[in-house]
Amino acid sequence: MADENFDDLTESSVETFEVNYSCLRCGTLVSNTELSRLPEIKCICGFRVFTKVRPPVVKTVKAI
Ligand SMILES: [Zn+2]
Repeated sequence: MADENFDDLTESSVETFEVNYSCLRCGTLVSNTELSRLPEIKCICGFRVFTKVRPPVVKTVKAI
């Protein structure tokens, strides 16, 4: 069974951890704090589509 999660889409109001975004074109990582400082959401390469990169959260997963 497919088990994909598309949660974590809650916007702002969460400032306890940093969220990183990866440019779809060049793969440059930008944090949400860096993005918020920019006048517009745009990569250094000019591309404007980013994918969210999950922070390395330690989870207990049974993998047997
Ligand atoms: Zn880029």
